[in-house]
Amino acid sequence: MGTTMNESESGAKSSASLFFKTENAWPTLPDAERDSVFAFCEDYRRFLSKVKTEREAHSEGVALAEAHGFLSLDDAIATGTRLKPGDKVYAGVADKTLLLAVIGHEDIEQGMRIVGGHTDSPRLDLKPRPLYEDSGLVLIDTHYYGGIKKYQWVTIPLALHGVITRKGGERINVCIGESPEDPVFVITDLLPHLGKNQGEKKLNEGITGEELNALFGSIPAADTDEKEKVKLNILRLLHERYGIDECDFTSAELELVPAGAARDLGFDRSMLLGYGHDDRVSAYTGIRALLDLPDIPKTTAMCILTDKEEIGSVGATGMYSFLFENVAAEIVNLCRSDYSDLILRRCLKHSKMLSADVNALHDPDFADVSSPHNNMAQMNCGLVVTKYVGSKGKSGSNDARSEYIAELREIFDTAGVSWQTGEIGKVDQGGGGTIAFMLARYGMDVVDCGVGVLSMHAPWEVVGKLDVYMAYKGYQAFYRA
Ligand code: MN
Ligand code: MN
Repeated sequence: MGTTMNESESGAKSSASLFFKTENAWPTLPDAERDSVFAFCEDYRRFLSKVKTEREAHSEGVALAEAHGFLSLDDAIATGTRLKPGDKVYAGVADKTLLLAVIGHEDIEQGMRIVGGHTDSPRLDLKPRPLYEDSGLVLIDTHYYGGIKKYQWVTIPLALHGVITRKGGERINVCIGESPEDPVFVITDLLPHLGKNQGEKKLNEGITGEELNALFGSIPAADTDEKEKVKLNILRLLHERYGIDECDFTSAELELVPAGAARDLGFDRSMLLGYGHDDRVSAYTGIRALLDLPDIPKTTAMCILTDKEEIGSVGATGMYSFLFENVAAEIVNLCRSDYSDLILRRCLKHSKMLSADVNALHDPDFADVSSPHNNMAQMNCGLVVTKYVGSKGKSGSNDARSEYIAELREIFDTAGVSWQTGEIGKVDQGGGGTIAFMLARYGMDVVDCGVGVLSMHAPWEVVGKLDVYMAYKGYQAFYRA
């Protein structure tokens, strides 16, 4: 967290002003702000409980934006609406990725202040032909998405979220397993009594990707000579409920995710246990900070909620595509009557970005992988600024420049935002990547900046409420700078 620069009466620096300590920010938090932390995190808990896929994040984001007076960029383009300071627009990309902007006082050529997070999370996607019958049971075959530890996904209740698009374009939304009266799905594991061989395997090999098959049904159809009687019964039920046949799964995007709501964690309710904090905690704090802006910002503020980060940001809805540049071009065009490629390039070059993504927190149970000497982020110590990510000597990292981090220190300290530094574990332990380097291609300053997480990429991840609130506060201070 930030230091306050008090000098003692004698003129000598006090030790408190000389040291930079990572400190738990709860004890120094004013009472009024303590209430704000809990209130904000209750909003976030509800959002996280409801939004479990990138499509759900998109539709919830659009609903929030429209409720706050944002206009669709497509509508603005169609009607030739010019954008002026204070105007608010949103642009959706294929119902998955969402960009929102509040036009600032400065000319758009001077750049934007961007907070970008992702809304996809590790999960189990259904294969194009998911249903099969074996030994009198119907199971669904999955192909996992993102980096998961497979053994964590067995014997927990799973919900099915997603869409089925039929020939002709009719889209059916699916969400089964979130209401208390809904059925859920589960991947079984071996009983310990027969687990001798499995137990001798390496942890990462105990459950394989092809063993991630979820139980889906077990009642056979009675009135048939069909060999797959249980599957026939399931297909009949699916047809009754959704009007689909088996082939419709080939044009579906269905995801198995942990079922149930995010919960307060700890006797003091200081933490949140939820699915998909990585990276919906950045998405939610980033969009709320934008929606709650108290006045028109100096610089145009943009929030990006992107898809596909967990599999390398590729595809038309990922940040490696031109989606950001395309939307920026439309905004520049609506802000300036003399649009040119050069003005767009200048806008992009002059922009500044917080790559809003989670980082690992120090976990006392696994202390040996932490970066030592206060270089690992800790819970309740605030927003984590991560100068570089990458692996094997920072490879693949954006590595933000010192001048930019100095600017952020100023912004956060002035706004009373608790912040700390972070690294993804100790040197050569592993590593990771974010969208930071993709935006840095335009020459803009980018740094990774987000909330610390325990059990990252597990079905249920942990964050500290104070850190979530500090992300909201920090992102808003950044938009307003
Ligand atoms: Mn992430
Ligand atoms: Mn991730």
